[in-house]
Amino acid sequence: MKKTILICLAVVGLYTTKAQNLNNMTTREKVEQYASVKLSTDLSFLSDNEKEMLGIFIDVAKIMDDIYWKQAFGDKREVNNLTDLWNYEFAQINYGFWDRMNDWKPFIKGYKAKAPGVTFYPEDMTKEEFNKLNDERKNSQYSVIRRDKNGKLFVKGYYEEYKEDIDKAIVLLNKAIEICDNEGMKKYLVERIKALKTDNYFASDMAWMDMKDSNLDFVVGPIENYDDELFGLKTSFEAFVLVKDPVWSKSLAKFIQLLPSLQKGLPCDEKFKQEVPGTESDLNVYDVLYYAGDCNAAGKTIAINLPNDEKVQLAKGSRRLQLKNAMKAKFDAIVVPIVEQVINPNQMKLINFDAFFSDVMFHEVAHGLGIKNTITGKGPVRQALQGEYSAYEEAKADVLGLYMVNELIKRKEVTNLTEEQCIATFVAGLFRSIRFGSAEAHGRANLMCYNYFEKVGAFTRDNDGIYTINFDKAKKAIEGWSALLLEMEGMGDYEKAAQYSKENAVISDVLQKDLDKINQAGIPVDVVFEQGRKVLGL
Ligand SMILES: [Zn+2]
Repeated sequence: MKKTILICLAVVGLYTTKAQNLNNMTTREKVEQYASVKLSTDLSFLSDNEKEMLGIFIDVAKIMDDIYWKQAFGDKREVNNLTDLWNYEFAQINYGFWDRMNDWKPFIKGYKAKAPGVTFYPEDMTKEEFNKLNDERKNSQYSVIRRDKNGKLFVKGYYEEYKEDIDKAIVLLNKAIEICDNEGMKKYLVERIKALKTDNYFASDMAWMDMKDSNLDFVVGPIENYDDELFGLKTSFEAFVLVKDPVWSKSLAKFIQLLPSLQKGLPCDEKFKQEVPGTESDLNVYDVLYYAGDCNAAGKTIAINLPNDEKVQLAKGSRRLQLKNAMKAKFDAIVVPIVEQVINPNQMKLINFDAFFSDVMFHEVAHGLGIKNTITGKGPVRQALQGEYSAYEEAKADVLGLYMVNELIKRKEVTNLTEEQCIATFVAGLFRSIRFGSAEAHGRANLMCYNYFEKVGAFTRDNDGIYTINFDKAKKAIEGWSALLLEMEGMGDYEKAAQYSKENAVISDVLQKDLDKINQAGIPVDVVFEQGRKVLGL
C-alpha cells in the first residue's frame, strides 16, 4: 500500500520539494507554504438520508482525528496551550511539534525529537526488550505496547487503549446504519463496528470491497503504518468522507470496456499487442468532504488504493479511489504556478484541470494496455526488466494514457477536451514530476519522456527557458515513444532497458536551470483544508 500511494502521488507529481531553505524560515512562513482550500462538492443528487449520513460520518471522522492526535503526539492540550498563533497553526497542520516536511525536525525551540515509534511503544523501550516480550499480539497492527507499574512491558489492543473515543464513534455509526438505504454500505458499517470493537478488520474489509453501488464511501479506522518508524507495524487512525462522482465513475467503467479495441490500434509492431486487456477494474472517482487523522497530516493524499490486507486482496482485489476535488485543489495551488514558470503564455490557456485529470485517470487505465508477458520467453515483463520495470511501466502508462484520450477524442467518446489541451497539459506535467529527480521510478519515466520529446522536436525551448509545443511533432512523438516502450517491455531485455534509461533519464544543464527557476518561485508545498458541516451547509 505504501508503495502504491507513493506511486500515485508521483503520478500526479504532487510531492513537495524543499524549495526554500526550511531551516531558515519562520513558523509563519512555513504555515503560509500551505495554501488553504475549501473542501466541498455538489450534493444535490443525494437523498436527505445520505446527506444526514455524511454529517454523521464527519462527526465520526473528528473522533478518528482525536485518536490520531493521541497516537501521533500524545496530549493535545499541549498544543491548545500554545500562545503563539503561528506555532499553534503549524502544530495543527503537523499533528504535533515536528515539521513532517522537514525530516520531522521540532519547530518549537528545545522540544524533544520525535521518537521513531511515537506513542505506539514506550519511548525508552529497546528493540531487544520488545523481542523478548512473550505475547504474540505484540506484532498486531492494532495493538500498543505499554509498561505496567513495575516497568514490565505488556500488550494492549487498540479498542482497549482508545475505548472512550471508539465507543463514541460506534454510537454515531449505529445512527448512520439506522437511516442507511444502501445494503452494501449498511453491511460494511455493521462489520466496521465489529472490527473497531474486536481489533479484527478482515470481515469489514471484505464487506467494503462488496459495496459497489453506494453514492457515499467512508474509509475509517486504523489503516496505514507510516508513523511506526520503529517496526512498521502499528497503524494510524484516519478517515476520508467521500462522495462518488457519478459522471466520471460511469465514463471510466465505459472506457475500461473499450480497452480491447484500443489495444488493437496501438502504434507498435503487431507482435507487441497480441494480449487482450482485462476489463475488470474497481476504479472510481470521488470528491472528498473530510480528511481526518493520518491522511490529514501535512502532505495530503489524492489517491487511495485499499485494502492493505493481502488476504482480502487475493479474494476480492482492491479498490482505487481518485480524489478529484483534492487533486483540483493541488492543481490550482501548486501545478499551475509551476507551469507558469516554463510554458509559453500563448499556450497556457490550453492547460486546464479537466485535461490534467484526464491525463491522471487515463494513466491509471492505461496500465492495462500493452504487454504483460515478454514475447522472447523471458517470462512476465515485471520479472524480465527487474529494477527497470517500474520506470518503464510508469512511462508506458503515461504515454498510452495520452494516446488513449486522444483516440477517444477522435472517436468522439470524449467531447469536453481537445487533443491540444491534453498534449499541452501532458507536457506541462513533465516538469512537475521531473522536479523530483531521477532516483524515483516516476521521475525517471518523466525524464526519459522529456528527453525523447525534446529530441524529436515536440517542443522547443527559448533562451529564457520558456517552452513552446509543436503539436504535429508532439503527435508523432506520442507514437514513437509508445512504440519504443512497448518494444522494450515486449522484448524484456534488461541490459538494453538499463542502458537506455542510464543514457536518457538524465537532467541536462539547461533543464536543471529550469528546475531551479521553478524551485525558487515560492510555490506552496501543499494544501490545508477548510472542511466540515458548515462548509457543506450540512
Ligand atoms: Zn502508474
